[in-house]
Amino acid sequence: MSFIKDNIQRMDMKPFTDAYPYFDSYRSLLFPGEIVDREKISWIYDKRRLTNLARAIDPSIKLYTKDNWFCKLLAWLLVICTFGSMPRKTFMEKFSTTIGPLHFYPKSKSIAGVLRSILHEGRHTQQARWCSFGIHPWVGLPIYAILYLLTPLPLGFAYLRCWFESDACMYAWTIGLQLGTYTTDYIHNRAIAFAGTVCSGKYGWSLPITYGAPMFLQAAHFAVDTAEKRKASNEQKQSS
Ligand SMILES: [Zn+2]
Repeated sequence: MSFIKDNIQRMDMKPFTDAYPYFDSYRSLLFPGEIVDREKISWIYDKRRLTNLARAIDPSIKLYTKDNWFCKLLAWLLVICTFGSMPRKTFMEKFSTTIGPLHFYPKSKSIAGVLRSILHEGRHTQQARWCSFGIHPWVGLPIYAILYLLTPLPLGFAYLRCWFESDACMYAWTIGLQLGTYTTDYIHNRAIAFAGTVCSGKYGWSLPITYGAPMFLQAAHFAVDTAEKRKASNEQKQSS
């Protein structure tokens, strides 16, 4: 399994380097203390820049708010499928949702909030694209949906749901560490906290936490190692 995982992760090195200049210009916005206003202003006022940023991860991405019939329908379906563990209001006002190339963010989410989520959500779009062998996330979406929602079981042992989530975190953490917007401590704590969410009813009890938490910690370790290797090779390039 780790052989497959390493290879899937290697498949997507190009988007990392493509995205880098965009994220560099956003780096200062992510530092605490410099983002007070960014924490208060709704992302919809900076939609154009955020869209450009997201398209550096995958060119197909489109950003929307959650104020539409589709998200409202999804919210009710999730309430039913998770037996109320994912409340409608939490889904509509707190959670970011990605369906293939479409990213839905709550209107009340701040610019900084979207910046913190955009890498993770962008990775889900890439994952859908993998399932089409690179053609388009819409083409890959049916297979991705089966893998994400049902494999091997829809509730209680959705191994691939947990893996896709840990992979999306790994992607976001690696870039964040490279940019200096995350610390090693932060991502380790975040790994345990987010494993708790993904293994809870909110994500349909994807895996028991005893299996899920190590998966997220492994993703954190992988991110730390990769970021360190890239930093070292960048420094070597600069000095030579
Ligand atoms: Zn996710």
